[in-house]
Amino acid sequence: MTKLETAVAVFAEHAELFQCPLCTAPLAVSHPRSLVCSRGHCFDFARNGYVNLLTHPHKSGVYTRQMFGSRQELHRRGFFQPVVDVMAELWTGWMWTASAPVVLDAGCGEGSNLAALRRSLARAGHDCTAIGMDLSKEAVHLAAREYPGSMWCVADLARCPLTSNSTDLILNILSPGNYAEFQRVLKPGGVLLKVIPNAGHLSQLRQVIETKAPEDYSNIQVRERFAANFSPVTERRVRYTRELEDEECLLLAAMTPLASDQEWNAVAAALQSAAAYVSFDMTVLAGRPFGTSNPGRE
Ligand SMILES: [Zn+2]
Repeated sequence: MTKLETAVAVFAEHAELFQCPLCTAPLAVSHPRSLVCSRGHCFDFARNGYVNLLTHPHKSGVYTRQMFGSRQELHRRGFFQPVVDVMAELWTGWMWTASAPVVLDAGCGEGSNLAALRRSLARAGHDCTAIGMDLSKEAVHLAAREYPGSMWCVADLARCPLTSNSTDLILNILSPGNYAEFQRVLKPGGVLLKVIPNAGHLSQLRQVIETKAPEDYSNIQVRERFAANFSPVTERRVRYTRELEDEECLLLAAMTPLASDQEWNAVAAALQSAAAYVSFDMTVLAGRPFGTSNPGRE
């Protein structure tokens, strides 16, 4: 089967999870390569095996294909595996509620986190129905090309094309979220895992790029918004450092929107001479929608 045929088959199997982003009517696969609602709104699959559910064109701004490609390569080298392992452990350890759970990666970027989580779950003998959504067509294109078997969508999280009460787990990793839509699409008892950076995250990289000192960075407002919208269940801080090969300095420089592509080589050289390693420092916040059963704090 081609990537397109694989994608159409997976979407056909799980079409009941999706609704039209224009009118909220149910969507169904219309062969050979579209999702169509009962009122005739039509969204085409791309050859790579993703579907574009945007209702208006979106310019991807500073995010480029090289940036997402660099992230994919750093994932391949295991740079983000510790945070994926923590998410898998939190969820399967004591939040797992469904036999065939539905996972949405909201703001999935180039898809590496969702793909890595699926691999972690598979190692533990679990499978899930996986959906990745991002506003960036470039990112979703790479996700579909690299990781077939999940449902990849270009979509606006502010009008999430999933039906209400359809989802067991939402991942929202280093990316803005939409809490109203997260509450709508989560099943009762569903879980949101939100990953936020702490002050020390990528500090060596930020020191060579930014004038603002990393210690000035605060995630207090992000935490407050999370707690105002979701009932916190637990949280886990994930801190580690990685030594950097020369080409990994360049991948890191190219991974963030902090530096322009003309600056990548200079940033990589500065990083190599300044530290030759980089610190990761993130917190995984776990929460449930208010009013649903909560197993208590860890
Ligand atoms: Zn419609």
